[in-house]
Amino acid sequence: MRRRAEFLPYQPRTILNKHPRADHWFWVRYSAYPYLGCQHGCLFCYCRERKFCPHPDPADFAYSIRVKENAPALLRRALSRAPVDVIGLGDYQPAERRFQLSRQMLEVCLERGFPVLILTRSPLVLRDLDLLTALNARAPVVVAFSLVATPESAGYAGVRRMEHLAPALEKRWAAMAEVARAGLLTGTCCMPILPGLCDDDANLELLVRWTADHGGRFLLAGGLTLADQQRAFFFETLRAAFPDLSSLYTRLYPEGSYGAAGWPWPAIGRRLRALCQRAGISDRMPRPIIPGEKRALNKQVVERLANEVYALELAEAPEARRWEVRRAAWAIEDLAQDLGLFYRTFGRRGLEGLPGLSPDLAGTVAGWLAAGARPGDGA
Ligand code: SF4
Repeated sequence: MRRRAEFLPYQPRTILNKHPRADHWFWVRYSAYPYLGCQHGCLFCYCRERKFCPHPDPADFAYSIRVKENAPALLRRALSRAPVDVIGLGDYQPAERRFQLSRQMLEVCLERGFPVLILTRSPLVLRDLDLLTALNARAPVVVAFSLVATPESAGYAGVRRMEHLAPALEKRWAAMAEVARAGLLTGTCCMPILPGLCDDDANLELLVRWTADHGGRFLLAGGLTLADQQRAFFFETLRAAFPDLSSLYTRLYPEGSYGAAGWPWPAIGRRLRALCQRAGISDRMPRPIIPGEKRALNKQVVERLANEVYALELAEAPEARRWEVRRAAWAIEDLAQDLGLFYRTFGRRGLEGLPGLSPDLAGTVAGWLAAGARPGDGA
């Protein structure tokens, strides 16, 4: 018999997670979510890791849901004091039909004009399309759909079993098309690409084609991570439900590893990049431009540096070089002044004085500034 979910009222003291810097994938500076636990219960979910999961038994993660009843009120108070930047928001698991906390939190973002990134496995997000389009007229909205297979994929049935409580893949693809028709930026988040189920070349081609055909403008990809109790839960489930995959994953994820040690990620990333270029979409999410943003140029330069880090990763460049460019991105992100004014005032020497920016990269950034950096410029 299918286990029923229980909903536990919960009153946290804070709701807004403030990250020191925007991440280089989704460009999120804040995050705020109204539920702890997720009824979609994907077998691979990293939120079962000890540091995220509220339960000692990770099996409870999908069935014991803490409902942060005061989330909208807490968010309203937090945003009244926070500089405007992108918030990762919106949890559209089945609980949301009943409690509508994600919707109320979106209303707060609309009141305050905060840009929003929604990453979801559910077409329930369409219920809030009215709010999302209204917000998009004030501040950028991005809705990304988690999808690692299509109905045409050979691994379709296996992926469905890995995400057996989540809405059907077909409904998510259809929802993407509807979000695109509403004029919002949308795309695919192919995370995690599961070895042996959906990392074959034919599926990569399908993912890119289906994204482009459904109005998606980007496709982000990444691999599976496994840690502590989430790792134990995953392997236990794999042995019982996917015995044919068990030995592959045991080999790829030896004890103590976090990512897959023997998985050919850079080659898969390069293949996706070539496919995306051919389809006219990006394998990176464009950084949202916030209207009236005083440090827009800083953010454009950070985006360009972050794109360079990703290109270096795909090219399997030395780790040291990737860190050098990543630190340069952080140095520019941390600069409180407008980068253009800073450069006109202090020149290249001023850039060289920024902590974390190497002389080599200070020269590169100075060259971009002299030429006039534009959003989305390739590195
Ligand atoms: S939808 Fe996301 S948060 Fe929910 S179980 Fe799946 S991977 Fe985890």
